Amino acid sequence: MLGQLGEAAKFLAGGQSLIPLLKLRFASPEHLVDLNFISGTSFIKEASGSLRLGAMTRHAEIEHSALARKIPLLHDCAAGIADVQVRNRGTIGGSLAEADPSGDWATALIALDTTVHCLGTAGARTIPLKDFVKDAYTTALAHDELVTEVEVKIPAQGSGGAYLAFKRSAPVYPTASAAVQLTLAGDVCQDAAIALGCVGLTAVRATEAETALRGRILNDTTIDAAAEGARAAADPQPDMRGSAEYKRQLVVALVGRAIRIAARRARGEEMEGAHLYA
Ligand SMILES: Cc1cc2nc3c(=O)[nH]c(=O)nc-3n(C[C@H](O)[C@H](O)[C@H](O)COP(=O)(O)OP(=O)(O)OC[C@H]3O[C@@H](n4cnc5c(N)ncnc54)[C@H](O)[C@@H]3O)c2cc1C
Repeated sequence: MLGQLGEAAKFLAGGQSLIPLLKLRFASPEHLVDLNFISGTSFIKEASGSLRLGAMTRHAEIEHSALARKIPLLHDCAAGIADVQVRNRGTIGGSLAEADPSGDWATALIALDTTVHCLGTAGARTIPLKDFVKDAYTTALAHDELVTEVEVKIPAQGSGGAYLAFKRSAPVYPTASAAVQLTLAGDVCQDAAIALGCVGLTAVRATEAETALRGRILNDTTIDAAAEGARAAADPQPDMRGSAEYKRQLVVALVGRAIRIAARRARGEEMEGAHLYA
C-alpha cells in the first residue's frame, strides 16, 4: 500500500512518536497505513542462538517477557521507556525506524549483536543495526520499506550487560544513557561493548572506553579509565536538560555504574538495573 500511495503516505505503528508530530503539524501525511491490524508481527521467540522480536512488539511486552530477560539489557531498556501508557503502545520497530537521537532502543541494541530485518517492494534484506541508523531521524529504510523483525544474538555464558538512562521524570526522554555488555573470564574482561545515548546525533560507540577494559583485570582503576574514555567519546549539545559539561559528567557516572552491574550479571548474579531519575 505504501508503494502505491507514494511519498504522501506513512506507516503507523504505536503512534507514540508519529501522533505527537501530527498534532504539532510537523508531519502531515495524506494517508496512514496502520500496521496494528497485521497479525503475526508482534512476537518474542528464540531461534538459532538469537532472540527475534517482531517489529510491532510493544515495549511493555518486552518488559514483561521472561524470554527477553535472557538478555537483561533488553529488559532494562524496555522497563525504563517513558511511562506505562507509552510502553503499552510504542513498538521496538517504530522506535528504530524513528531514529530519534534520544530514543532508548538504538543505544541499548547497538551494544549487542543486532540485525534489523526489512521488507519492501524490492524484497527482503537484513541490515546490521550499526548500518541501519544513518543520522538523527534517518535510517537506511526506503520509503516503502518496513522493519519486520529485530534479531539480537544471545550473548555467551560469562557475558553480562546493563542499560542505564538518567531521566528528569518518567514520561520524558533521557538526559543521557549508557549500554554496556561485558564478557568476563574470571576477573579479566575479555570483551566489552559500550554505547552512549543522547550525547550525539546517533548512539555513540565508546571505543576508547572499550579498549580501556579489553584484556584487563576489571577493578576500580580500569572501570574509572573506561568511564573517562566514555567522557571523551560523548559529544553532547547543551539544552534544557543540561549543559554539555554536565552531560559528559553524567556519562562518566552512568558508564561506571553500568559496568559494575554488567560485571555482576556476567558472574551470574541476578540484579535489577533500574533507571535513574533526577
Ligand atoms: C510522552 C512520551 C515519552 C516518550 N519517552 C520515550 C523515552 O523515554 N525513550 C524512548 O525510547 N522513547 C520514548 N518515547 C517514544 C516511544 O518509545 C515511541 O513508541 C517510539 O519512539 C516509536 O514507536 P511507535 O511504535 O510509537 O512508532 P510510531 O510513532 O507509530 O512511528 C514512528 C515512525 O516510525 C515509522 N514506523 C513505525 N513502525 C515502522 C515499521 N515497522 N517499519 C518502518 N517504519 C515504521 C512511522 O512511519 C513513523 O515515521 C516517548 C513517547 C512519548 C509520547
